[in-house]
Amino acid sequence: MGDTEHFIQGVEAKMSGQKTDVIVIGAGPYGLAASAHLRGAGANVRVLGKPMSFWMRHMPKGMRLRSPWAASHIADPAAALTLDDFERGRGERIDRPVPLSDFVAYGHWFQKLAGPAIDERQAERVERADGRFRVLLDDGESIESERVVVAAGIAAFAWRPREFDHVPRKFASHSSEHDDLARFAGQRVAVVGGGQSAFESAVLLHEAGVDVELIMRAPRIRWVGRATRKGFLGRLLFDRTDVGPAGVSHIVARPMLLRHLPGSMRRAAMRRSLAPGASLWLRPRSEGMAISTGRHVTAATRVNGHLELALDDATTRRVDHLLLATGYRVDVRKYGFLSPSLLAALRIVEGHPVLDAGLESSVPGLHFLGAPAGFSFGPLVRFVAGTQFGARALTTWVARHEVKQAPVASADRIVDYRTAE
Ligand SMILES: Cc1cc2nc3c(=O)[nH]c(=O)nc-3n(C[C@H](O)[C@H](O)[C@H](O)COP(=O)(O)OP(=O)(O)OC[C@H]3O[C@@H](n4cnc5c(N)ncnc54)[C@H](O)[C@@H]3O)c2cc1C
Repeated sequence: MGDTEHFIQGVEAKMSGQKTDVIVIGAGPYGLAASAHLRGAGANVRVLGKPMSFWMRHMPKGMRLRSPWAASHIADPAAALTLDDFERGRGERIDRPVPLSDFVAYGHWFQKLAGPAIDERQAERVERADGRFRVLLDDGESIESERVVVAAGIAAFAWRPREFDHVPRKFASHSSEHDDLARFAGQRVAVVGGGQSAFESAVLLHEAGVDVELIMRAPRIRWVGRATRKGFLGRLLFDRTDVGPAGVSHIVARPMLLRHLPGSMRRAAMRRSLAPGASLWLRPRSEGMAISTGRHVTAATRVNGHLELALDDATTRRVDHLLLATGYRVDVRKYGFLSPSLLAALRIVEGHPVLDAGLESSVPGLHFLGAPAGFSFGPLVRFVAGTQFGARALTTWVARHEVKQAPVASADRIVDYRTAE
């Protein structure tokens, strides 16, 4: 019996006949995968949010996926809704690396085939009431459920360095605030950051004829190549999920194992897997683009409608805009919809909720998927490749466990990340 059939038979019998209702907040890859699995196992699921909206509104047109084809399938319980199935159904080859627009279309296709329509309203507030969860929606209606799965992504965690707090967004914006970089045509733009997002944004600006300079702290660009991932040696060194460096990739691909390793090892896996770098395929496209390595901006001052940047080597730049491709820092306290009493009851370490094997938090019935699960399960859950693990672990748990009726704890259970493990 295949892995997939085994999973389905293992959980569906357990849920049929019992009223397990779940609200999933978020309709990105994790919310879609989770709802497909839960529905497949007989749960009564309601999914909130606009499908694939992060990919449509917070990533730039023309972007391509950094994850390879084999690591970009959104998981469904029968493994019948892969990118390959989408490509076959469309009857037209999809380019590699996968263009953003095709991945968005894939997500919408997945959603149509995986289950009934999604409720596109936003969750404004989640709270506990009489042993259940009450979710207040943006139109004022409230709905209840036994469990809530937070799959709300990273948009709330966009990180803007403090030194630019005083600069208005018109002059310094985070990369997640843009879905079309063509609006900078004819301007001078500095991009700050050393990761894929910074590099690809700078390349897209460069190709749009913008006078752009990429400024990064790292002394040199770290190119992340495909060459070492090919053939027998490639398979030996890298898991199909392709998160993390050679060797480490196989550990990262086993989140249940990683969960039992000491925090220091999980942190090291996270650090090494998320180290800034740019895909090798961007290299030829960056020919002729201004790049300053080993430099950082020390001050940004507005001068006559421009921004004057001071760098650590005492040079200056005059630009129209500063694009902060400075990444994301998970802190679930920034999900504005979690009520203060739920936040107070959550055991949080370094901004992440501490989760058990079913991705359930210290609040019984409240689960987290995607990046917030990273402290417990490592870097895989920050990528689409982790949807299979997340959706299966969640569904198996929900099928086998009742929600414990523990009282919501008080604020003294918030753990100080500097001391907690
Ligand atoms: C520029 C960039 C490029 C990336 N490229 C890749 C890549 O190539 N491959 C890869 O694997 N990963 C990539 N990632 C990481 C990517 O963000 C995650 O893999 C993926 O989005 C995780 O899916 P998710 O479902 O957790 O989150 P999301 O895709 O962000 O989905 C979250 C959903 O929740 C919804 N939501 C949020 N709050 C509410 C609310 N209150 N009520 C209702 N709905 C809500 C949002 O509208 C959204 O649709 C990239 C990230 C960035 C920033």
